Order: sequence, then C-alpha cells, then structure tokens
Amino acid sequence: MATWQQAQGTLCYIHYFSALRPEASYGSCRHDGDIIISFGRLVFWLLETRIVAKAAYRSSASDRLLHEFAVYNLLYTLQGVVIPSLFGLYRNLDDGSSILVTSYAGVTLEDFDALSLPDRKILLLRVARLHQMGVLHNDLEPRNVVFSKRSGPRIIDFDSATLGHTCTGLSCKELYDLAHRLRLDLGAELSRPEPSRPTRFWFLVTSVYVFIFFILSMAMYRVRYTA
Ligand SMILES: [Zn+2]
Repeated sequence: MATWQQAQGTLCYIHYFSALRPEASYGSCRHDGDIIISFGRLVFWLLETRIVAKAAYRSSASDRLLHEFAVYNLLYTLQGVVIPSLFGLYRNLDDGSSILVTSYAGVTLEDFDALSLPDRKILLLRVARLHQMGVLHNDLEPRNVVFSKRSGPRIIDFDSATLGHTCTGLSCKELYDLAHRLRLDLGAELSRPEPSRPTRFWFLVTSVYVFIFFILSMAMYRVRYTA
C-alpha cells in the first residue's frame, strides 16, 4: 500500500485514500500533459465534498503541481471565491508521484461567450484580484475557467502562473487582452466593485463547509483511495 505524505504542514500523514471516489458523472478523467485530472467525492464520516485531484507521476509534472500548490497558498484569501479551495498536495513516498487536491468549482468553459455579461464582468474583476495579489496567470483560456451558477466563474490551473506581478491596471497586458476577449471596457470595469451574486448566502454556506472539512481533514489520519 502506498504511503502518502502531505507536502507541507506536518499535521498528518496520509497512508492511503479510501474515501476518494472518482465519479465519471463529473467528467471522469482528462489529461493536461503529464498531469491526470480526476473528479470525485472526498468522504469523511458524514461529510462529503466534490473534489478535483491532479496526479503527476513524472518529476517535471510534480514540479508543476508543486508550483501550483505554492500559488494556491499565496492566494489563500481568494480560495473558495476567486479560485477553488485547496485541500493539499500529497506525495507518494514510494514512487515520488504527487496529487494536488482542490474543491470542485464547476464546469470548464468551452468559450468565454458562454458567460453572461454580468459573469464576464465578474471574471475580469476576479482576474484583477489575482493580479493585485501579484499573480500573473499566463494562460487565461476558457479551459482554465470553471463556472457554476452558484459561484460564478472561477480561475483554475496555475502551473504556468508567475509571481511578483506588479499590476499596472489599464496598461496591464493580461487584463487588457482578457477584457478584449470578454468584449468589456477595462477602464470602466476596473472603476467599479465586483457585482454581488444573488446566491451569496450559499456561497457562505459552502465556504464554511469547506473550512470545516479542511479542519477535519487535518485531524484525520486515514484516507483511502479506490481507483
Ligand atoms: Zn496586471
């Protein structure tokens, strides 16, 4: 049986995943280069949440996950709102493979035109919030945006992101290009706050749930994985 160690934070060792259940109904698995992305549910006693697990088996792919993990940590104040929540990065001590586990945040976009005008505005302002935190995404394609009616658009896949970005606002190329693709006026959008969504209450409930789950996952000592 594989032995898994949490990459950072020594609160727990994960011996094996038993309650990580890949579910084809959420889109099954797909590949992103050397990284395999799986969708499933993580179960801890009576708690259950939908998750996305990104697995890397080569050192270069593991390095990408480690970088993405660092970006998620930097953006911890935006987790659950602008980006999915991070559950952790786990390394298999036997073969060096890694798994990055985040919350499931919606369906991958096929086209920015699939978003309504309010949601396009929200997406632009959420990317601007990444920039305010010093993160340049570098791959803002529809495949790297997920959407749910409850939470709106969220940004994913930070393995190409660079840190230390000093955003120049209207003259920021990534924001300018995104605004152009979203058919928005960058200056007008940056001058107003992010529109609130009518489902804020459920947003809060979900965030509290994820927080409780995270605390419990830190305390638990066994998780089992069934392929
Ligand atoms: Zn910027």
